[in-house]
Amino acid sequence: MPKILLLGAPGVGKSTHSAKITEDFGIPAIATGDILRDNLKRETELGKKAKTYVEAGELVPDELVIALIKERLSEDDTKNGYLLDGFPRTLTQAEDLDAYLAEEGSGLDCVLYLNAPKEVLVNRISGRRICPACKAAFRVSEVPEGFCPGCGEELSIRKDDQAETAEKRIEVYNERTAPLVDYYKNKGILIEFDASRDIDTVQAEIDQALGA
Ligand code: AMP
Repeated sequence: MPKILLLGAPGVGKSTHSAKITEDFGIPAIATGDILRDNLKRETELGKKAKTYVEAGELVPDELVIALIKERLSEDDTKNGYLLDGFPRTLTQAEDLDAYLAEEGSGLDCVLYLNAPKEVLVNRISGRRICPACKAAFRVSEVPEGFCPGCGEELSIRKDDQAETAEKRIEVYNERTAPLVDYYKNKGILIEFDASRDIDTVQAEIDQALGA
């Protein structure tokens, strides 16, 4: 059963492609950013610890994210595979994930690496709208009326999508997360996509690579 990782900078389109892949395979999407935002909103202990990092566009400390992902991966709905979005984001997280999966005799099946230049990322982030209820992400041009086509909720802009924080997140990605490209390339499980093209073209290539 597929264990897939979507790797790429903020704004590259991970959540857009995640929705289609998880539907095709009937597997859950596990997005650490969504889990953290949910904890922030509910003001849980984890939310309180993560808040300043998330709002500043910094990475939440490894030990917090690793603990939360291990808990999530132990839930029943992960038995038939899953898609990871936004985790791992550091080499420590990647090594820890490998060790955790090795213990159960498995590992990631493939890493879909979405690549796009910085101007594209900045552009997409500034035009991103999120449904607070179902977490779906849209481009402002797709939803000019500002409501979620799925559940009717009013769409909002993520706080950390504001220009300055978005720049910071891209910088943090380049420093801390980009090294994972070589990490997974060396393992022979990385497939790269030019994600600067339109969604349908990229999705068609992803489908082909996954045999969906
Ligand atoms: P995302 O929705 O994936 O862009 O994540 C939003 C924010 O949550 C990031 O800017 C980080 O502050 C935090 N975050 C999400 N995933 C991780 C992770 N794997 N490691 C550290 N921080 C994370």
